[in-house]
Amino acid sequence: MSEQTAQEGTSRGGAGQERRVVVVGAGMAGVQTAVALREQGFTGTVTLIGAEPHQPYDRPPLSKAVLLGTSEGSAFDVDFDSLDIELRLGCEALGVRPADHELDTESGPVPYDVLVLATGAEPVRLPGTEGVPGVHLLRTLDDAERLRPVLARQHDIVVVGAGWIGAEFATAAREAGCAVTVVEAADRPLAGALPAEVAAPMTAWYADSGTDLRTHARVERVEPGGVVLDDGSRLPADAVVVGIGARPATGWLAGSGIELGAHGEVVADDHLRTSAGDVYAVGDCASFPSARYGTRLLVHHWDNALQGPRTVAANILGEHAAVYDPVPYFWSEQFGRFVQYAGHHAAADRMIWRGDPTGPAWSVCWLRDNRLVALLAVGRPRDLAQGRRLIESAHPLNPQSLSNPTLPLKSAVTTT
Ligand code: FAD
Repeated sequence: MSEQTAQEGTSRGGAGQERRVVVVGAGMAGVQTAVALREQGFTGTVTLIGAEPHQPYDRPPLSKAVLLGTSEGSAFDVDFDSLDIELRLGCEALGVRPADHELDTESGPVPYDVLVLATGAEPVRLPGTEGVPGVHLLRTLDDAERLRPVLARQHDIVVVGAGWIGAEFATAAREAGCAVTVVEAADRPLAGALPAEVAAPMTAWYADSGTDLRTHARVERVEPGGVVLDDGSRLPADAVVVGIGARPATGWLAGSGIELGAHGEVVADDHLRTSAGDVYAVGDCASFPSARYGTRLLVHHWDNALQGPRTVAANILGEHAAVYDPVPYFWSEQFGRFVQYAGHHAAADRMIWRGDPTGPAWSVCWLRDNRLVALLAVGRPRDLAQGRRLIESAHPLNPQSLSNPTLPLKSAVTTT
């Protein structure tokens, strides 16, 4: 079937009419979906609707260069006009009526033939702190712009949460000369992401940078000029930055009939289709089943918002059903280290160390049936690059060779 015929065959508009694709959410996943549609030859209309008023931008620089003022912004280098992508910014979607193929927005209903949900995630707030002056989140360009002068004034800052965002923010704040205390309810940083043995060496990174990390510590309340912990102690704070996680931004889908999962995420299938006809979901707002890992994945990282859209675009064009089953990947820049992770591990997977975790460069591999399923690399980008390919190929590996950091990772492939 030719592409033209395939498009017409699935068009609600009938033969000869161009389909209308509407993408909700103008972050990485939404922008990439619109661009991928054009790259893959889609000729119908593409409308990209985003709640934020700003030209679409990339988020990772917000906790790095944008925060420190070494980069003004991080707008995507995409010429929407020349790609014939209609941008509707500062326009929030309020609901979807799949039976009518209509999206409801602040500025009225928008009909679609195909809808793509790419509304990302929103940060979890610390209870009782909404609207409290001096309490910040770090998700949007506006958040980063509000925080930039806080850093420049070299204030006392309390960061709540020693996750990825907390660590990156603390890094920038220390670099700017602020006094930083990180308060973490768990016994270690990154407790939700990494096992205790792997997170243990990271604890030292905080101290080395002059950041005071308080574990087993919960915030009781925030008051003017300070934070009171549940043990009664009070930390001085000119500003409080909350980094305790993010949840899919899907509240607006309530009542639409589109299936949401336990974390509020849109439940997509392996083609990134939702439970409603002609509606796809991609990026931080959606989970998908991974045959590779035998579980459903909800990934809140940049690479997923880059790769998923290509699958969505291919499935909208519809000549071949494209399955989405990536090796997830992310990176973090914290305390002078480049931390990268590829794959997905479970508690039962066998852990193999490569190198000394108290040193500047080391990796950890996770094996299942002697095949690599995940890898964390600190300052070893070559391990990451080779590991990613080994996860994809699922070659059996020799654990002993793998544990020798002087040997290239790929040399652990067994030939028998
Ligand atoms: P988002 O980027 O959240 O975009 C969704 C967009 O949809 C938003 O602009 C939102 O306003 C809009 N929207 C929401 N609801 C509606 C609605 N109802 N109507 C219209 N529009 C709506 N990942 C890494 O791998 N490495 C990093 O170093 C890294 N650093 C990060 C640093 C920061 C500060 C943050 C916040 C994230 C970082 N990430 C990083 C994660 C990465 O940026 C995200 O995974 C990625 O942005 C997800 O893209 P998305 O398009 O799915 O969602």
